Formats: sequence, structure tokens, C-alpha cells
Amino acid sequence: REMQGVRLADDGRLCIGGGTIHRAVAEEAKPHYPGLASLAARIGDPAVRNRGTIGGSVANNDPSACYPAGVLASGATIVTNSREIEADDFFQGMFSTALEEGEIITEVKFPVPEKARYEKFIQPASRFPLVAAFVAKFSEGVRVAVTGASENGVFRWTEAETALSADFSAKALEGLTLDGGSMISDLHGSGAYRAHLVGVMTKRAVLDLV
Ligand SMILES: Cc1cc2nc3c(=O)[nH]c(=O)nc-3n(C[C@H](O)[C@H](O)[C@H](O)COP(=O)(O)OP(=O)(O)OC[C@H]3O[C@@H](n4cnc5c(N)ncnc54)[C@H](O)[C@@H]3O)c2cc1C
Repeated sequence: REMQGVRLADDGRLCIGGGTIHRAVAEEAKPHYPGLASLAARIGDPAVRNRGTIGGSVANNDPSACYPAGVLASGATIVTNSREIEADDFFQGMFSTALEEGEIITEVKFPVPEKARYEKFIQPASRFPLVAAFVAKFSEGVRVAVTGASENGVFRWTEAETALSADFSAKALEGLTLDGGSMISDLHGSGAYRAHLVGVMTKRAVLDLV
């Protein structure tokens, strides 16, 4: 119980207990961080959202999971029973994280951006994203995290971040491309297809926000 719930801390960060189910985040985070609540509301189906937790999703670091994109794009902090880990240091490749044996995620602390949007191209059989992008606009700059695409799991698309931090418009993304050779290629989509989708999802997220 002590690992469940959503609260707004005095420093303005939204803190979500590691054992909080997706449905609770979808409902309770909505007034504070609607972009993140919307991500949680679209994970899987109602049964999945009533059982799956933010701690389980982040610890598992499935290369197609939704939360890692929201956590990384927000620049969140993962709190465990022994320390705090910045999102930039936490995700270390497909199904791989900075967690050590026996370490438990007790909370995730999210800085709340000015605006944010998660665009997800759904793989209809599982409802996992085939590719999805989370765009978070802070006063200091824009962060973009992509899931479902890379062989190395969730990643920040730094070229898009630089372009959008200078000019927050879909036009700023024109001409930016990613290498399909390092992307997941399977029966659902080739690496080149996924690389293309990253651009489309990021553009849609920005268009929704401007
Ligand atoms: C049909 C289906 C569709 C799905 N669709 C999506 C989707 O669209 N998007 C998406 O993101 N996910 C999706 N999921 C995954 C789902 O959202 C779950 O969050 C995810 O499977 C983790 O489940 P869980 O929280 O029960 O963790 P578990 O399965 O219990 O745990 C996963 C791993 O994390 C460890 N762990 C669990 N909690 C913690 C903790 N607090 N600290 C440290 N380690 C921990 C466990 O030991 C285990 O190794 C889907 C799953 C299903 C079955």
C-alpha cells in the first residue's frame, strides 16, 4: 500500500508510487500532468491497466513499453529502496536497467513540463506501441523519447530535441532522419519502416501541442 498512489510534492514534481497501477495513474495524474495520464490511459486494455504497475513496467524496460518513453522524456527520477537514479542513467538497453539484484522501485518523480504529448502507433494484436514518441516541452528546452523502435530500447532523439528547442513546430523536424539499420526489424515492421514512423509520431505529437 505504501508504494501506491499519486501525489504532488512541494517542489512541484509529480510522485507516483512504484506499485501504482496504470488505471490509477490515468485518473489521478490527469489534473497535474495530463500528457502522462494520457499515456497511462492507453496502455494495453482495461485488464492490463488494472494489474500492471509503473514500477513493473519501468523495471522490465520492455523495448516497446510506454512508460520508459514518458519517464525518459520527462527527465524523471527513479527512487528505489536504496538510492535515486536519473532516467538518463537508468535505461541501459533492451530489458536492461541500472537496478541491482533485489533493488525495488518505490517511486518515480516526474518534473511536470509546460506541455507534453505521447503519440503511439498501436500494434493492434497486443496494443503495445509499434513505435511511439513522447514529446515534453519545458521552459529550458524540449525532450523527445522514443520507444518500440531501437534495438537498444528506449532512447532520446537528440537531433529532434535540438531542432524543437530552437523552433517548437512540426516544420523544425523536416529533413531529420534516423538510421533504420539500428531499428528493430520483425514481422510487424522493418527497421526502415520504424525509422520513418519515429518521425511521423514525433511530428504528430508536436502538431497536437502547437
Ligand atoms: C496484453 C498486454 C498488453 C500490454 N500492452 C502494453 C502497452 O500498450 N504498453 C505498455 O507499456 N505495456 C503494456 N503491457 C505491459 C503491462 O503494462 C505491464 O505493466 C508490464 O507487463 C509489467 O507488469 P507488472 O507491473 O505486473 O510487473 P511484473 O510483471 O510483476 O514485473 C515485471 C518485472 O519487473 C520487476 N518488478 C515489478 N515491480 C517492481 C518494482 N516496483 N521494483 C523493481 N522491480 C519490479 C519484476 O520482478 C519483474 O522482473 C501489456 C501487457 C499485456 C499482457
